[in-house]
Amino acid sequence: MSTATPKLVRVERPPAMPEVAIVGGGVCGLALAHSLQARQVDWALFEARDRLGGRVLTQASQRGLALDLGPSWFWPDTQPSMARLVEDLDLAWVDQPDDGRVLWLDDPHGAPRVMAVDGMGRAVEGGPARPGALHGGARRLSGGMRGLVDALASPLPAARLHRGWALQRVLDGGDHVALHLQGAGGSGDTRLVQARRVVLALPPRVADATVDFQPGLPRPVVDALRATPTWMATAAKAAVAYGRPFWRDIGHTGNACVVHPQAVLAEVFDVGPVLGPSPAQGVAGAALGGFLALGVASRRAMKASLPMLIDSQLGMLFGPDASDGELHLQDWADERWTCSPMDLADAARAGAHPVYGHAGLTEPLWGGRLLFGGSETAARGGGYLEGALNAAARLRRQLTAPLPAPGLGTSAH
Ligand SMILES: Cc1cc2nc3c(=O)[nH]c(=O)nc-3n(C[C@H](O)[C@H](O)[C@H](O)COP(=O)(O)OP(=O)(O)OC[C@H]3O[C@@H](n4cnc5c(N)ncnc54)[C@H](O)[C@@H]3O)c2cc1C
Repeated sequence: MSTATPKLVRVERPPAMPEVAIVGGGVCGLALAHSLQARQVDWALFEARDRLGGRVLTQASQRGLALDLGPSWFWPDTQPSMARLVEDLDLAWVDQPDDGRVLWLDDPHGAPRVMAVDGMGRAVEGGPARPGALHGGARRLSGGMRGLVDALASPLPAARLHRGWALQRVLDGGDHVALHLQGAGGSGDTRLVQARRVVLALPPRVADATVDFQPGLPRPVVDALRATPTWMATAAKAAVAYGRPFWRDIGHTGNACVVHPQAVLAEVFDVGPVLGPSPAQGVAGAALGGFLALGVASRRAMKASLPMLIDSQLGMLFGPDASDGELHLQDWADERWTCSPMDLADAARAGAHPVYGHAGLTEPLWGGRLLFGGSETAARGGGYLEGALNAAARLRRQLTAPLPAPGLGTSAH
């Protein structure tokens, strides 16, 4: 006889049925919720993690510095939706320090050399320094990218934001959809929610790996989900906090590239506060950040040694002061709500920015009741924060258009 405690099944039926269920509380899902709220559309959002933001992750150092372990940059020239939103939300930003020079380390036993970055982004010894050449005019939010998530989420009614609920199955009920959600944290709780329409604001491969669709999706849609890699899913990012920006004392912006085969961090940059013409004066604390050069398997095998290896590499670049920082490390490959098994299998091939915005992922399914979102569904800015906002704008247009009358043939079971 089984002694297992029966699972709690909470069933929510009309009139609690929201017009739109949004699954995924990253920038795409939150930007969509924000615009539906402004248009008085009834919505509810379900997020698998116990926090909002998705790939946006900002941690505080012991001194209270905001350290971005997910996205930190936006580029106003190529990301107009991001630039506009930052302005509309009145978020303070700083330019990413970039004087056009980079510390270049191509020998594991040698010393770094100062190189200039040319107009094609290549490092050239002795060339003229072109400010902005390395980071392309990138800006950061002063309090970290978390500020964007907070500014989108804080005006929303808290009762509509359901954290810690992962979508496991979605069923088309003909005139509604039924969502089977699993509580996070191993509680075993499940929940059934009905809504008129559902938006999956998730990386397409994560939707394919974590959600059971009933009826099954058409083959071309499944193929499109699987053919869409999740941008940065297998990346790992480090941020190291220090008492002061000692690299500026020795004339560096903090920008460095390590290109030898034993590199631990590939790209290093300043991630601390930057204040006006006298950088960081009077600010308690500073930080360097970087992307790990090691592949997923090496990171896992060397997990325990990573802090020491990162310290040692920063020491080689910036001297002994760099060897005793406070390390914050995020390996996105370990995050099932970001990195799907297909992303892991493809990790060795990850590199150039994929082409995003597969047409098969932007057409509504199930008579308009099922829509896909997430940055990777956007043709403009796909994979980036810009893509998340563009996908949210497309979804808002689709959701505020009337549903097709039954039998008019938009359903694609
Ligand atoms: C290390 C790193 C650095 C980056 N740097 C930059 C940068 O500098 N500039 C830039 O523009 N972009 C950058 N990006 C990309 C940027 O973070 C993404 O484009 C953006 O955050 C995507 O937002 P999204 O809402 O589409 O997806 P996500 O942020 O992935 O949100 C999806 C949400 O869905 C949730 N979820 C997943 N499955 C389920 C489920 N079954 N049920 C319920 N919820 C679920 C997830 O928990 C997550 O919260 C970076 C990404 C990383 C990882």
